[in-house]
Amino acid sequence: MQAALRAGAEALLVTHAPDVRYLSGFTGSSGAVALAGGRAALFTDGRYTTQAKAEVNGLRLVIDKRSPGVQAVEWLAAAGVKKCAFDAAQTSVAALELMKKAVNQALKAVPAPMRRSFFVATDGLVARIRQVKDEDEIVRMRKAAAVGCGLFSAVLQYLIPGVGETQVAAQLEFMARLAGVEAMSFETIVASGERSALPHGRATAAKLPAQGFVTLDFGVLLGGYCSDMTRTVHLGRPSEREWDVYHSVLEAQEAAIAAVSPGVRCSEVDEAARSVLRKAGLEKEFSHSTGHGVGLEIHEGPRIAARQEQVLEPGMVITIEPGAYLSSGAALKARRPGSRTKKGHPVAKAFGVRIEDMVLVTKSGHELLTAASPKDWIEL
Ligand code: ZN
Ligand code: ZN
Repeated sequence: MQAALRAGAEALLVTHAPDVRYLSGFTGSSGAVALAGGRAALFTDGRYTTQAKAEVNGLRLVIDKRSPGVQAVEWLAAAGVKKCAFDAAQTSVAALELMKKAVNQALKAVPAPMRRSFFVATDGLVARIRQVKDEDEIVRMRKAAAVGCGLFSAVLQYLIPGVGETQVAAQLEFMARLAGVEAMSFETIVASGERSALPHGRATAAKLPAQGFVTLDFGVLLGGYCSDMTRTVHLGRPSEREWDVYHSVLEAQEAAIAAVSPGVRCSEVDEAARSVLRKAGLEKEFSHSTGHGVGLEIHEGPRIAARQEQVLEPGMVITIEPGAYLSSGAALKARRPGSRTKKGHPVAKAFGVRIEDMVLVTKSGHELLTAASPKDWIEL
């Protein structure tokens, strides 16, 4: 709200479902929250009457046939609001047009130039507040993370050469539902063999190989909050290169986790991971950012990436997920200086490794929410 006021607005209109839920408790897919002059109201349509009455607390509830955004605009106009902030990043052009029409109707008596400047575009006001979790949210996220860890241990028995990636994903998701989760927080990634070199290898009909990595990246939705974790295991004996790359990624991941503390810039956490992989000659192979915030949405702020000057605050929950994806001949053959020798099959094929944990920023440092899943080398 502070930023909205700085932008010259006297009211705020929120339509992005996770933001609406955060402010009102309403979990329906069609809702809007309007805040003006110390008053707040939730708008939805008749499909959600029972649900909204049960969920919404502390806000006025308005139910009508028209779109929640339009209802909210009329309410704001009736309250005498002349300038209203909205989240440009979460509002479609079509929705904005509809709301502008509603402003024109509701404020007929007001001169046209004033009507045209009714909406003030802002970026992620509620999203910014949501980055810092309160106690209740942290309890939910701890539970979601713990369920994720349990699923990882339970799915290991299905990682057998010849089993399809989709079958592994199905087992994992079936067990997740039995554990009581509302949904998966995103499409489960099972990337095996050469497909482990794809940072976003969704489960396909591909069969798990006799030798090679399997990357599992998945999360559950529990109590409205997302979990997100990645583990990479090896089927059969690894090559020396595979062993080295895994341990470089693990070292990078642990270095980044160790850097997580209030007051630290996101770019510093990213650099902690990146510098380890740079030393190991894997800088180019680490082709994405180190992590992201997680909460009501699977990807939210802050971004843990280079040049992100945002500072970590207690209550933020972030992922730390460096990876290395090797598909070029040179990268596959390169040896880390002084690497330990481990006998195994020669590697000529592409492979990749990613390791991801959820980390809570605490007052004094950090807490690993996915600590129940060890990251030591797993060979099946
Ligand atoms: Zn993930
Ligand atoms: Zn993630």
